[in-house]
Amino acid sequence: MTITTRFAPSPTGYLHVGGARTALFSWLYARKHGGKFILRIEDTDLERSTQESVDAILEGMAWLGLDYDEGPFYQTHHFDRYKEIIQQLLAQGDAYYCYCSKEELEQLRTDQMANKEKPRYNGKCRASGPLLQDSEPVIRFRNPTDGVVVIHDLVKGDITVANKELDDLIIARADGTPTYNLTVVVDDMDMKVTHVIRGDDHINNTPRQINILNALKVKLPDYAHLPMILGPDGARLSKRHGAVSVMQFRDEGYLPDALLNYLVRLGWSHGDQEIFSVDEMVEFFALNDVNVSASIFNMEKLLWLNHQYIMNGDPAHVARHLSWHMGQLGIDPSDGPDLIDVVKVQRERSKTLVEMAASSVYFYKEFDSYEEKAVKKNFTVGSDQVLARLRDELVVLTKWTAQEIHQVIVNLAEVLGLNMGKVAQPLRVAICGSGVSPAIDVTLALVGREKTLARIDRAINYIRSLN
Ligand code: GLU
Repeated sequence: MTITTRFAPSPTGYLHVGGARTALFSWLYARKHGGKFILRIEDTDLERSTQESVDAILEGMAWLGLDYDEGPFYQTHHFDRYKEIIQQLLAQGDAYYCYCSKEELEQLRTDQMANKEKPRYNGKCRASGPLLQDSEPVIRFRNPTDGVVVIHDLVKGDITVANKELDDLIIARADGTPTYNLTVVVDDMDMKVTHVIRGDDHINNTPRQINILNALKVKLPDYAHLPMILGPDGARLSKRHGAVSVMQFRDEGYLPDALLNYLVRLGWSHGDQEIFSVDEMVEFFALNDVNVSASIFNMEKLLWLNHQYIMNGDPAHVARHLSWHMGQLGIDPSDGPDLIDVVKVQRERSKTLVEMAASSVYFYKEFDSYEEKAVKKNFTVGSDQVLARLRDELVVLTKWTAQEIHQVIVNLAEVLGLNMGKVAQPLRVAICGSGVSPAIDVTLALVGREKTLARIDRAINYIRSLN
């Protein structure tokens, strides 16, 4: 048997972190067991589904690297199949036409509420026969009236629900369109899904889906319901807690591997280990290690992880993602030093790629103005002379390397009887526009000789215009 999992988002918004975690766990389970991972877009709600949202889901999955073996399948392409199954259920007597009007159902509900009963359909049309002419009834599933349904949940353990708690749910609306519980069951059956891994907001649907699957006489999949993700205030994670869309995390400078690592730890653990490569996640992942209770999303921890990945990841990998952020700033990173070298000098000080990109602009592009505070502190009277002397020494260097540049700075400080800072800081502001950069020798080596000399000239002129 091939282990088959699926991620089945409804395209009614962006791919949020909760969905991404469900996708990740389903993906990991399939990858661990040599199985198949399917992407299924549940777009039957025509009013709420949008192409934009489908695109956002596909983009999010691609960015996270969650590749699927089959799909994306679209439920709207399966309407004929759903109709076929609905007809089969009718023919078997496991479904029936229901002619109750909206008003009637509303009244039933009001009465039940008044009697403090759980609102549920009373089965009035259970005995209805073949379709009446000129009518547009809904179709209901004939739920068993006694016995229990037991969900053997791989995360939560056994959950038992009495059938008398479940009413006859609508599987086709009056216009003939199928409803969620029916479409999920049909697709899970046709796609031979062996493990349904999804958020625990679907637990209430599960006994109903099991009953339909039993009526269709197919083997049940295993179920694993993942606990919710909450914000720090204990409420279900939402926009008001900050970024929740996967692509927003990209925009804010997170690496996909850091987000995946964060998500895998959200509700799952393997000893005390915090950092997992994707290969390790696949190696160690097990559904029975998933927590039963909800997890709280902690932005600071994600930021910490991101910094770890930026510092310790393969610089070429970090550079590939940084390149996108440079592009966002209008910079083509091929117009300057190798981005991989920039990553190497910047990564200790950058918690996000947005920070890294912003503080790397001067490697590629002339800055517009000097930072005011840095000017006050470092472009003091006489600093133009220091810069002019530096220029004289730098222009004759035969090799433009960090080592040679370092020597020039050290020597000049000694000759002028100044401490290193008095030489290096004005130089730093001249080259970077601010008082913060990686080691100055390395910075100059990366900026290049031509740009360095031009920026020293610009700074000398600027200082002279001040004083
Ligand atoms: N389409 C459902 C949702 O987005 C998921 C259904 C399922 O996983 O069974 O919540």
